[in-house]
Amino acid sequence: MWTSLVCVVLVTSPGGASLPLVVNTWPFKEAAAAAWEALQSGGSVLDAVERGCRRCELDQCDGSVGFGGSPDETGETSLDALIINGDTMEVGAVADLRRVKNAIGVARAVMERTHHTLLVGESASAFAEDMGFPAEDLTTNKSKGLYTRWLQAGCQPNYRQNVVPDPATSCGPYRPGPGRTPHRRPPPTDLRAHDTIGVIAISGKGQVAAGTSTNGANHKIPGRVGDSPIAGAGAYADSSAGAAAATGDGDIMMRFLPSFLAVELMRGGAEPSAACTAAVARTKRHYPEFFGAVICANTTGHYGAACNKLPGFPKFSYMVVSAETRGPSLHTVDCF
Ligand code: ASP
Repeated sequence: MWTSLVCVVLVTSPGGASLPLVVNTWPFKEAAAAAWEALQSGGSVLDAVERGCRRCELDQCDGSVGFGGSPDETGETSLDALIINGDTMEVGAVADLRRVKNAIGVARAVMERTHHTLLVGESASAFAEDMGFPAEDLTTNKSKGLYTRWLQAGCQPNYRQNVVPDPATSCGPYRPGPGRTPHRRPPPTDLRAHDTIGVIAISGKGQVAAGTSTNGANHKIPGRVGDSPIAGAGAYADSSAGAAAATGDGDIMMRFLPSFLAVELMRGGAEPSAACTAAVARTKRHYPEFFGAVICANTTGHYGAACNKLPGFPKFSYMVVSAETRGPSLHTVDCF
């Protein structure tokens, strides 16, 4: 399954439509409430993003965020997360994190306790443990069941191509096959299991932050890193423009930096809905069948979203909290 949590927080500027503001991907109401509560209790937009993403990691939102989801080809769950301070452009990210549940916390530690931007794999786990994050098994009965059923189904679907034995019918181990078929077989998407959380938070002073958290793609090849921990892909934030976050087929979407594109378009004056639409359209031009959605918000408190229409995915839902909504409100956009 594909999973990621993206968080963006914006605060209303004078004359803004609705600041402070929290927007997050998918109908993850508890995440939205947690982010909003962080702002209301005096926390920063970074706190709001972290709390929102953390809530989803603890709740295992739809099984696609946090521990116990998206087992890889060996049955292990690994996590990706990102946090961005749109005031300072500090970024912290972690990818292929193993045995540590609090991925967004580790991403924030990378941002605040190192001069690096992205740590990956076993070394990221060692860093996390050094920083006091407990090492725990991320496997659950649910992820074990997913893995077992996948093995029983002959390792279908999987992300291999141009290898032998034929990955469409056989499990590995695989070796390079003869030739290379130049086709664009869409990844084995399970639309029901796509739920990265991305959070945007904007304060009343116009400070912007964004973040994501996900357990990636079901049955991914070990070592696979998706879009969610990549600045500009999974999320982007700049307090001089706004923020955006993406969810969906990260292997495709990360090639087009949709979050960066959307923020740059908002910087140029595009409304958030139009910016999101343009970001989705850019990917769609090359991959009409890609699965994905983008949320956008600007520093005046306006927001929007867009998604690529597919059979079984006609609409995309996201959460909004502002002084106007007085609580998490569910919004839906028709995909195009
Ligand atoms: N974008 C995430 C990834 O590719 C998954 C998702 O959002 O559903 O890892």
